[in-house]
Amino acid sequence: MGSMRLDRFLKEQGIASRSELKAYIRKGRVKVDGTVCTDPGFHVDPEKNQVTFDDVPVRHSRYVYLMMNKPKGILTATSDRQARTVLDLLPEKYRRMEVFPVGRLDKDTEGLLLITNNGRLAHNLLSPKKHVPKLYEAHLDRYPGEAAVTAFREGVVINSEFTALPAELRFISRDPVIAHVVVYEGKFHQVKRMFKAVGAEVVYLKRLKMGELALDESLEPGEYRELTDSEKALIG
Ligand code: URA
Repeated sequence: MGSMRLDRFLKEQGIASRSELKAYIRKGRVKVDGTVCTDPGFHVDPEKNQVTFDDVPVRHSRYVYLMMNKPKGILTATSDRQARTVLDLLPEKYRRMEVFPVGRLDKDTEGLLLITNNGRLAHNLLSPKKHVPKLYEAHLDRYPGEAAVTAFREGVVINSEFTALPAELRFISRDPVIAHVVVYEGKFHQVKRMFKAVGAEVVYLKRLKMGELALDESLEPGEYRELTDSEKALIG
């Protein structure tokens, strides 16, 4: 999993807030391999270095990576007072590991949702700078014409504040109208708004891929499983 900043590592273990940790490290309360380290930016490899806080070993908690086929009607959130969330579909064992969904799917959207407790990975996948491609299957109420393909390629103008990044659109069926679309950003209602801008309504939306990670189609909506090692390698 490689190295990371000492303050980040301790933060991910839930020891304290990042700013508190910086202060603790500077005060000399943290040792790396038996030697006091006062640099919060020092790089440690949690799998190789022994880190202690007030001489108590900080155990590297296991990272967990789940793929869920998110069902309709469930919120992508960690908790909600009224609605059921994707975390409510998981057993206690994973919730205790403080997992959270990476990015959001609308309540009525199905498909690939990655759930993890690896904050750094989530950040990398979601960073607007990284332009991680996301593949969706969209069912539309009408065929908006091949002009939509060009519009998507050139960047759909949603409104005065938002022009979508160039995206790839391909129709895979005309009756019913089904399209595959790859987008490189993840704004609110992104895919629905892009189709609306070219005159079609999305009536069903499912995410099939995030980066190189593909939804396991044998998962029924609401089912999940841990990623295999080769799938973990795909998401870096
Ligand atoms: N775009 C949308 O409009 N909704 C989603 O859930 C995901 C992408």
